Amino acid sequence: MNGGLTVGERLVGGSPGEEINAFAAKIYPICRSITGDGVRKTLRAIRSHIDLDIHEVPTGTEVFDWVVPREWNVRAAYIRDQQGRKIVDFAESNLHVMSYSVPVHRWISLAELKQHVYTLPDQPDLTPYRTSYYADNWAFCMPHRLFESLDDERYEVVIDSDLSNGSLSYGEYLHKGETDEEFLLSAHICHPSLANDNCSGVALLTHLAKCMVGLRTRYSYRFLFAPGTIGAITWLARNEDHARRIKHGLVVSMVGDGGGPTYKKSRQGNAKIDRVIAHGLRHCGLKSTILDFSPYGYDERQYCSPGFDLPVGLFQRSQFGQIPEYHTSADNLDFIAADHLALSYRLIAEAIDVVENDRGYRNVVARCEPQLGRRGLYGAIGGDKGTAEANMAMLWVLNLSDGRHSLLDIAERADLPFSLIRRTAQILSDHGLLSVCDIEADGAR
Ligand code: ZN
Repeated sequence: MNGGLTVGERLVGGSPGEEINAFAAKIYPICRSITGDGVRKTLRAIRSHIDLDIHEVPTGTEVFDWVVPREWNVRAAYIRDQQGRKIVDFAESNLHVMSYSVPVHRWISLAELKQHVYTLPDQPDLTPYRTSYYADNWAFCMPHRLFESLDDERYEVVIDSDLSNGSLSYGEYLHKGETDEEFLLSAHICHPSLANDNCSGVALLTHLAKCMVGLRTRYSYRFLFAPGTIGAITWLARNEDHARRIKHGLVVSMVGDGGGPTYKKSRQGNAKIDRVIAHGLRHCGLKSTILDFSPYGYDERQYCSPGFDLPVGLFQRSQFGQIPEYHTSADNLDFIAADHLALSYRLIAEAIDVVENDRGYRNVVARCEPQLGRRGLYGAIGGDKGTAEANMAMLWVLNLSDGRHSLLDIAERADLPFSLIRRTAQILSDHGLLSVCDIEADGAR
């Protein structure tokens, strides 16, 4: 199966960084919100790579304590001065109009305009990203320096938008594995032209789904592309029973910058996915951060709400809200890079490799160590850090393969990479020293 390679090894072939970066750049210009044609256009772009199911949920549909909102679309928006010059124009950047702005067309005083403009005084050259999904309002966003330069008495403001009954769109793709147990991979698709948050996550998961086609896996992999908060809530409301199949999950956002990596644990805190990511980050060679769960962030808030309490964590590079580019025009295509995307992708692929290959073995000899020398096993296993580490891996695998420890348990206890422990177990198994046994393999301990 899988051409002799593990799932993780198969996933990391080619140049994922360049491909993910190119797709992020393709969807970056689209004006997205929590509903509307920009979301549909993005979902269609994803569907050009994978066989995505696109769902439309009508305005007014009740989803737990929420209601699917009216659909928002915008055609044009600008502020014009008395000489007819456009101060800011939606056509130049979709960040200039606050998402879900109601339509407006009139002349107003500079003082009144000030009530409808967002700027960042501490970052005077950047345009902020603002939304007003659930309160009728309108506003423009612009650089503080530009706003301070305005000195006309009156300005023409135009937002040619509509808020009307329509639907909320989301997309999902299922890679069928040998079991119905699922690994959920979720990205929000509601932000307009922000590259890291979250074109990077959408593009990474699209590439991952594409690379899984034709791969034999133990778990089924569900990819969900939905608007933040309301999209995840809508999916959960329509899939309440189905959600119980989710054994592991990651929300993937902001994966294209050079920071982190950062992982926020699931609400459970000791779920298998929490251990798997912590293990991967410990051995990734970068200064990573692991955060405890908190009910603030992205859609892990919904997946980890008490009625579901799913084992879903948040994978990021820099932590949201902690970098100056966050939710500003500086989160553009220059802020993300193929190398960073490739590393993020590899870390997620390696996590998948661990959940796919974590199993238990029993040491066939059991009473004292088997005689490795006469079998030519000392030094037989190549490790990244040489023979000593490889020999330690062999001794740990033999010692802990007692029917009670999985390969991940052993990797954690030995403080060695899972990939080395897995290769070692395979070689010992090939030499008849280990037999596969049926212990728990899903982190019940
Ligand atoms: Zn965001």
